[in-house]
Amino acid sequence: MPAPMVIANWKMNGSLIGNASLLHQILSGSDAFEHLEVGICPPFPYLEQVSEQVSHSRINLGAQNVSAFQSGAYTGETSAAMLKDLGCRYVLLGHSERRQLFQESDHQVAAKFEAALSAGLQPVLCIGETLEQRQREETGRVVSTQIQSVIDHVGIQGFTNAVIAYEPVWAIGTGQTATPEQAQEVHAHIRQLLTGYDASIASQVHILYGGSVNAANARSLFSQKDIDGGLVGGASLKPNDFLDICRSAS
Ligand code: PEP
Repeated sequence: MPAPMVIANWKMNGSLIGNASLLHQILSGSDAFEHLEVGICPPFPYLEQVSEQVSHSRINLGAQNVSAFQSGAYTGETSAAMLKDLGCRYVLLGHSERRQLFQESDHQVAAKFEAALSAGLQPVLCIGETLEQRQREETGRVVSTQIQSVIDHVGIQGFTNAVIAYEPVWAIGTGQTATPEQAQEVHAHIRQLLTGYDASIASQVHILYGGSVNAANARSLFSQKDIDGGLVGGASLKPNDFLDICRSAS
């Protein structure tokens, strides 16, 4: 079983002054990270600030997106090598906000996954169904397709050093969390799919749950057999809540 992991997704929030204060408060409760792997994914402009402030802690750095391209004439893009250069360990890929608001396709996500691996970053592949898809009982098919497209691109070996975050779209930022049983059912499905390719990779890969995780629901979610931690959005901006979530995972 992989060690528990909690990753914070700050989304497009923050400022130099606000980040410094948030990090200061998080670092003052760093006993919460003793038994888990923890990461923070701030917006690009603040990567260096966060990197410096967490440098003497157990907190790892991650980014929220990456270019599929390596370098050159791609104005506005940020390459995987640049993220690595800045000290990133993780990069979120295929977050539903990127899939929905910026029309990122499974193919583009798979290309970004490959770029991240080539630069030595650990991809955090975000997958999940919409409410309509869940109501049509398509959840299993949707998450399988999203994972399959990455396997088709990089092979199952690509998951040796990757993380999967199951984030039902209807639960992200809505305050409506999947029940532990609903989440466990999908996590088990994901692990089963990977087991069909490679049992050892399937048993070691972190499968995080994301979608309105908070201090009150984290423990029951993380206690499920196939839930290895969480990807936390809104609650990661509240230091005490984030620390409580981390404590619930360890
Ligand atoms: C996320 O952004 O990945 C997320 C899960 O957000 P929230 O926790 O706010 O639902």
